[in-house]
Amino acid sequence: MKTLLAFEINVLIYFVIPFLACSVYNKSRVDALYNYLTAVLLWGGFAGAIYSFKLSDEITISGGNIAYGAFMMTAVLLILTERSRTTFFKIIRVLLGVDAVVFIGFCFMTAIFKMGVTVNPLGVPPELFHTSFWILVFGGILILCEILTLYFVFLHLGTRINDITLLSILYVLAFTVMLILDGILFPILVFGMHNDLEHTIIGDLPGKSLLAVSFAVPLLIYLFINRNDVENFKDANIKLRDVVNYRFELLIHRMHAYEVNSELQQRKIKQLIDISGTDTLTGIANRRKFEETLNREWFRAQRTQRPVTLIIGDVDHFKYYNDTYGHPQGDACLRQVAALWQQMVKRSTDLAARIGGEEFALIIPDTEASTLTGTLQQFMLDLEKAAITHQSSPIAPFVTMSIGVASCIPSSDKTPLELYKLADKRLYQAKHSGRNRIVYE
Ligand code: GH3
Ligand code: MG
Ligand code: MG
Repeated sequence: MKTLLAFEINVLIYFVIPFLACSVYNKSRVDALYNYLTAVLLWGGFAGAIYSFKLSDEITISGGNIAYGAFMMTAVLLILTERSRTTFFKIIRVLLGVDAVVFIGFCFMTAIFKMGVTVNPLGVPPELFHTSFWILVFGGILILCEILTLYFVFLHLGTRINDITLLSILYVLAFTVMLILDGILFPILVFGMHNDLEHTIIGDLPGKSLLAVSFAVPLLIYLFINRNDVENFKDANIKLRDVVNYRFELLIHRMHAYEVNSELQQRKIKQLIDISGTDTLTGIANRRKFEETLNREWFRAQRTQRPVTLIIGDVDHFKYYNDTYGHPQGDACLRQVAALWQQMVKRSTDLAARIGGEEFALIIPDTEASTLTGTLQQFMLDLEKAAITHQSSPIAPFVTMSIGVASCIPSSDKTPLELYKLADKRLYQAKHSGRNRIVYE
């Protein structure tokens, strides 16, 4: 009688802690339950070897069995209170983590006991730390199968039964059956099929049944008190498929996130390239971008045997401008000129760039120089209209530009540099023939 009382008190102790954790209605109760799950599992590793309750000649319940009952009960509470498709995988994580710690820790303890390198003042027997890898593995797998089955039964019943009291009773019944079933399956898994198996199972059954009922009663009381937990679980509309698939979905989600991330990075890289191809003063393309584009368009024109035109413009007597109005004003003038220069770009393949201090370039693929006279004259007119005062210029009261134009169908024996040199030569000619003009040939 005393033994039975001690056993029931043991169950009660196991139950009170999660009961309290779940009764505290705040967000941390799920965390508390996971912590408890870990503690119970860890403690169960010792409890089995330390004590058993011999309730009768047939019924012996080990401390490990009671810890297992507490673990299953806590798992049920977690399923019902967390109501998340992630619960199952979090329980797996706890199980794997604890089993790894137990296995490594126990192996280590056994080894140091054997080596006799420790002082053992309490006279702890080395057998306490005896562990079997396969018992941990099979036991773990069995527990997971049981939890998954319970999940299945809970969800299935939830969609069919609307009466919460009846549902609670059926949930607890399923839990009880599962615990008894474990009493049959665990010996088969751990000890394998042997002659004495029948005896082992039969001998174990009354104990497992008592254990199951001992945990079932307080669980039922808890569910009756917290009816809304069962109600909410029923309404949560969790699918077993999601519970099992969660990990894979998570993987796919992470892969997708990675893709999005790399897409973002690609965009950032592109932005950086764009920035590095931009002239910071005027905002149009810079020399680097100009060279890159000229090369690309050159070889493209070589393949298609289409003409490519290069235009180079240089602000006349800009040194005087700077000297007269100062460098910052010179910068402002360059920005104005650049904006007008950019207006000559008509197609996405055209490129306007600032390639030196007050020197600008225009690449127009697939076009003869002769067809550009209108565009260039319009630019000269626009510049005139902009009327950027340039008092010290010997040729006009406003800022003017000299422009050289070169065009060719690239052949394999020529290089883009030759086209550049030709345009530059014509710019030089424009300068020497009086400035403020365009030289085509
Ligand atoms: P030309 O008509 O023969 O081209 O005479 P120029 O004075 O324009 O030519 P030169 O090469 O003698 O002088 C160019 C001037 O452009 C010198 C330099 O101070 C100025 N410059 C170059 N880059 C910048 C810039 O970024 N901002 C300003 N404000 N001035 C610049
Ligand atoms: Mg100049
Ligand atoms: Mg110059």
